[in-house]
Amino acid sequence: MEIVLIYGGKSAEHEISVLTAQAIAKNIDYMKYTVQPVYITQQGDWLAGPKLNKLPQMGWDFNLSPADHAEFKEANSTGLSVVPTDVLNASTIVFPALHGPNGEDGTIQGLFESLNVPYVGAGVLASATAMDKIISKYLFEKAGIPQLPYHALRAADWEKDPEAALDVVINDLDLPVFVKPANLGSSVGISRADSREDLKTAIDLALQFDRRVVLEKALDGAREIELAVMGNDDPQVSVPGELVKEQGFYDYDEKYINNTVEMAIPAPLSKELVSKLQDYAKAAYLIIDGSGLTRCDFFITADEAIYINEVNTMPGFTQFSMYPSLWEATGKSYSQLIADLLELALSRYEAKQ
Ligand code: ATP
Ligand code: MG
Ligand code: MG
Ligand code: MG
Repeated sequence: MEIVLIYGGKSAEHEISVLTAQAIAKNIDYMKYTVQPVYITQQGDWLAGPKLNKLPQMGWDFNLSPADHAEFKEANSTGLSVVPTDVLNASTIVFPALHGPNGEDGTIQGLFESLNVPYVGAGVLASATAMDKIISKYLFEKAGIPQLPYHALRAADWEKDPEAALDVVINDLDLPVFVKPANLGSSVGISRADSREDLKTAIDLALQFDRRVVLEKALDGAREIELAVMGNDDPQVSVPGELVKEQGFYDYDEKYINNTVEMAIPAPLSKELVSKLQDYAKAAYLIIDGSGLTRCDFFITADEAIYINEVNTMPGFTQFSMYPSLWEATGKSYSQLIADLLELALSRYEAKQ
């Protein structure tokens, strides 16, 4: 069977997706599968074809230069209209190694559903829900998972009466507050506001990325704990891992540039806390209708209060990323993880036919 490994993409997480795809490609069972890479450029062009196919022999150098892109397009005239029908068909399994908007938010999953091809990871609903920090909060509430007090704000309401919006948020949540675009990842567009003036700036910034923003009470000095969930009908939960960081805010630079954050796996936590976290991670998975995988992220305070932060349906997936490391510590190797995700994709597909 052929795996169509789609990577790159238009989102801010393009580079990490390239690393993820390289790691996946290295760990596929080539006795069982062949791989057709499909590269989505930062501009959104889909590239596939003979030159990309040669990449395994070239040491999986997925980082193609703009000159390479031009060559592809000429050689293959691949655009969105060509790639799906040429490359995506029922005898392939798609592995969308994409993060963030257009890759992890249900949009590309909708394309796979329309074309009736099996694909790895969450379906349309779970992807869209997990990517939307407002909708997911409504569902976490429904599932009884504790979370921080929050407010949702639409651009239209902000523009109409910013002072009234600031009053409501400050009265309700107290400063400091975290402000986030509803749909994004990698901490892009997120900032912490300590004053009314900050809050204004933070909202304007977040609204550059989305027409809805979420405002949350900011926690000081909380630990950040993440758990991996995997499965379709019977999801399994990993041991917890901790992001051990020096500064409070795990921002874009800390994620991808500075590399100062360390992972402690398993996180040093009491048995009771671990079992609570695992129950919440599973509950979050079920309420969004998860399938395939998610990484479920929490905050824990010094007095052991747990708050869910978010779920990510296509978390960082290089060999050094939290998600595979959590499974490694739970007894599942990286290559076994890939094999299991492909099996889960197929069984979900077959159950629907
Ligand atoms: P990811 O890359 O994991 O998808 P994201 O862009 O969806 O991240 P969040 O996880 O919501 O963003 O927030 C990014 C980081 O900001 C968190 O990991 C944490 O360090 C900090 N943070 C977010 N919300 C709060 C809060 N309410 N209080 C304190 N710190 C917060
Ligand atoms: Mg996220
Ligand atoms: Mg994310
Ligand atoms: Mg996060």
